[in-house]
Amino acid sequence: MVYRRRSASDILKKLREEILSIRRIRVYPDPILRKKCRKVKRIDDKIIRIANDLKETMLAAGGVGLAANQIGELSRIITLHIPEEKKPWVLINPEIISKKGSRDVLEGCLSFPGYEGLVKRSVSVSARWLDLNKSLYKVTKEELFAQALEHEIDHLNGILYTDHLLEHEKLKQAGLKQDQPHLHDVDMKIIAHKEQDEPSEIVESKLNFSKLYSDSSISQMQYDLFNEGFLEN
Ligand SMILES: [Zn+2]
Repeated sequence: MVYRRRSASDILKKLREEILSIRRIRVYPDPILRKKCRKVKRIDDKIIRIANDLKETMLAAGGVGLAANQIGELSRIITLHIPEEKKPWVLINPEIISKKGSRDVLEGCLSFPGYEGLVKRSVSVSARWLDLNKSLYKVTKEELFAQALEHEIDHLNGILYTDHLLEHEKLKQAGLKQDQPHLHDVDMKIIAHKEQDEPSEIVESKLNFSKLYSDSSISQMQYDLFNEGFLEN
């Protein structure tokens, strides 16, 4: 077996590529999270670059999945990294063909850092997609893989997991983290004017905090949103 020692410049080059690939993850209520992504027509250099950046950003953030609009790209690309699997997946134009069953799961999202909530997801999900070599995949998955497929494909359609949150009573029934402090709904106008070419709009007028768990407080969330320019004084 031949071992090739990597030169310092090789290592630096690789490091630079990795650093450049890591993009800012858009957080709620960034309006791009509500945009529908467009189907990829041709897997060209630009698409390969976006897919690579998406993968590197997801891995750096320690996420299970990431969708292209979360890094500001409106193409139907998602990446997944299931903890017990070594290799991350790149999915181009992923589509759900069929779903079976229903279960309640606790879920979070890199675009809502610090929060999680209970949602209904399918027990098994059949989906198809292309990889970067245009090979067609048709798979049926369960557990975290199925949940991640539903969560990330939702993102491509502008749907967030907070749209699926179950009632607070359900949270109690499921007996999850009952002893944790819970939050209450608050009326707050969230203004989104993050894109230069777009007028500002009210994205949300009420936040269903009571359906979310968080280690941080509402005043911290309000402070964060205010600093980001999403909240009116
Ligand atoms: Zn997400």
